[in-house]
Amino acid sequence: MSTIDGLPPLREVIAEHGLSANKALGQNFLMDLNLTAKIARQAGDLTACDVLEIGPGPGGLTRALLHEGARKVLAIEKDARCLPVLAAISDHYPDRLEVLNADALKVNVAAHLSPPVRVVANLPYNVGTELLIRWLTPQIWPPFWDSLTLMFQKEVAQRIVAVPGSKSYGRLSILTQWRASARIVMEIPPQAFTPPPKVNSAVVHIEKRDRMLFPADEKTLTRVVAAAFGQRRKMLRASLKGLHPDMEMILTNVGIKPTERAENISIEGFCALARALKPG
Ligand code: SAM
Repeated sequence: MSTIDGLPPLREVIAEHGLSANKALGQNFLMDLNLTAKIARQAGDLTACDVLEIGPGPGGLTRALLHEGARKVLAIEKDARCLPVLAAISDHYPDRLEVLNADALKVNVAAHLSPPVRVVANLPYNVGTELLIRWLTPQIWPPFWDSLTLMFQKEVAQRIVAVPGSKSYGRLSILTQWRASARIVMEIPPQAFTPPPKVNSAVVHIEKRDRMLFPADEKTLTRVVAAAFGQRRKMLRASLKGLHPDMEMILTNVGIKPTERAENISIEGFCALARALKPG
């Protein structure tokens, strides 16, 4: 059977290399190259960009990114079993695919990439939110990336784009929307994956803002939202009391009722709190 890029179909590749899915590595593979092309296109025009992909696996999304014209793809894969398959893709697209057999949490990717950089990935569930938080909270802004196009469990995607007052609003919504704009661009059912996960998935497209919406120190803001949403049903005067000896006064000074709950506080409110705790 022929494919759009002239490489063998993914099912054949997986069977030939014995790539049975490893649950501990969060392996749910996308098999449909039309679908991976659609995901790659959500990242916009890639022809003048380097693309960072975490967890290429057997390379369905990698192939789409290259076929869509990415200038270069840096793919970081922890599972060495995938390397021969990725090497064959690299041969098919000479000088455009660099593969690192590494843990994505331990690589300094900026050293391997030239701007502009877009990140596109079907993230392993066990490190997905950790990577997202790291990409969103570097000390220096703007970050190394221009956009992030990422697949998550649908529930996590909903948390990223949630607005105040909704049940999904929390740490991920604030840390994302403070410095970037985010929207859900695709929903993907379990049957699209091998093996099918138990949950629905969604692709989120995040574009960095050149400047944060409201000034704040990222470490303080991260601490405030972690404490506030760590105990989201509690009043803020209780959930934040470990952050300052007179938290009620700090809350009142920035115009937030100490009896309010975290889910009703806007991003502007959390940034004001972070500034009051650590004046710039
Ligand atoms: N991109 C492929 C696709 O869409 O079919 C595979 C996606 S699968 C959900 C996640 C991939 O991330 C797996 O190939 C897994 O081996 C890899 N992975 C898991 N943990 C990793 C880590 N810490 N660093 C790099 N890759 C990792």
